[in-house]
Amino acid sequence: MKITAIEAICLAIPMKPLDPPSPWTAATRKQIIVRVRTDAGLTGVGEAFAYGAPLAVCNVIEESLAPLLIGQDPLRIEYLADLMHRGTMIYGRRGLAMFAISGVDIALWDLLGKALNAPVHALLGGATRPTLPVYASLMRYDSPKDVAGACKGFVAQGFTMLKLHQTDVASVRAAREAVGPDVALMLDVNCPWTPAEAINMARALEPYRLFWFEEPVWPPEDYTGLAEVARATDTPIALGENESTLFGFREIVERRAGDILQPSITKVGGITEFKKIAALAQAANLPIAPHSFYFGPGLAATLHVAATWGGAMPVEFPTGQHETSFLARPIQAVDGYVEVPSGPGLGVEINEQAIRRFPYAASGAKPFVLH
Ligand SMILES: [Mg+2]
Repeated sequence: MKITAIEAICLAIPMKPLDPPSPWTAATRKQIIVRVRTDAGLTGVGEAFAYGAPLAVCNVIEESLAPLLIGQDPLRIEYLADLMHRGTMIYGRRGLAMFAISGVDIALWDLLGKALNAPVHALLGGATRPTLPVYASLMRYDSPKDVAGACKGFVAQGFTMLKLHQTDVASVRAAREAVGPDVALMLDVNCPWTPAEAINMARALEPYRLFWFEEPVWPPEDYTGLAEVARATDTPIALGENESTLFGFREIVERRAGDILQPSITKVGGITEFKKIAALAQAANLPIAPHSFYFGPGLAATLHVAATWGGAMPVEFPTGQHETSFLARPIQAVDGYVEVPSGPGLGVEINEQAIRRFPYAASGAKPFVLH
């Protein structure tokens, strides 16, 4: 079998309105699907991280990666991953080019599973459980009142773990008062503060018993600063969604920069790199709670990998829904759990109608800025 074509497809699918509304819904419109086609008629699908400049990610796939891989045997994934890493070394160890590699790598694993008629988790050693615990990852809301309303809504849907994306104490207090003592609350602030500011916030938040406090320090790779915060608070510090590759995570582990690792499968280098990071985390005795604010092949790939380890950390599950799902059968959470897909490869199928209907075009709109 040989690779005949690699396509990167950028979509912009409107989100259904949220109640209460969130200023973040516009950013989750963008999606990148990757397809690896072969001369055997099999096609693998993957997903690349799409915030920021999705057309640039698609260009790396089509201009830099496709020429390396076309004509190659798609089942030699380690070899092909090595080709892609070396081929983009000068500009690609983190960020847009690594998102591109991740998307292609995930598609290669889907293809391998389809070729062997086995789910990806079986190729990785087998699932330890048929379902995985997930947490509802809330978007950011404009007020503590809206946060409380959103939390009540997701608890009513059966979630027992919720993650907020607020940056103020009042919102966390409102969330805790809304859900009571038995729902796990996490807080992700997306890297705003100095280590000293982060330590003050961690202490101010201690009464609300956060299950974890995520990425409190600017910049995200200040692992010395994050380690200071982790030492100064009893609340576990979670980090890593902006890091890439096994070697990036080696830095986090060696510096003991936090308590919970959050590699993101569409950013770190795909399934091939993620499984190496998982082994590193195991050797360091640090749990992984995967970053996966994804709706499609990226979420499926995360579930396949997470199913192979025995730990109890939940997988991130996005809130909000696209107007039309780009999966033929969207992945659903029921009472805080998601079924591990069981079909060949990733076990998901792309909704071709959504691909035709929602092509992305650069809009010139103001870029999405977190804080
Ligand atoms: Mg995060």
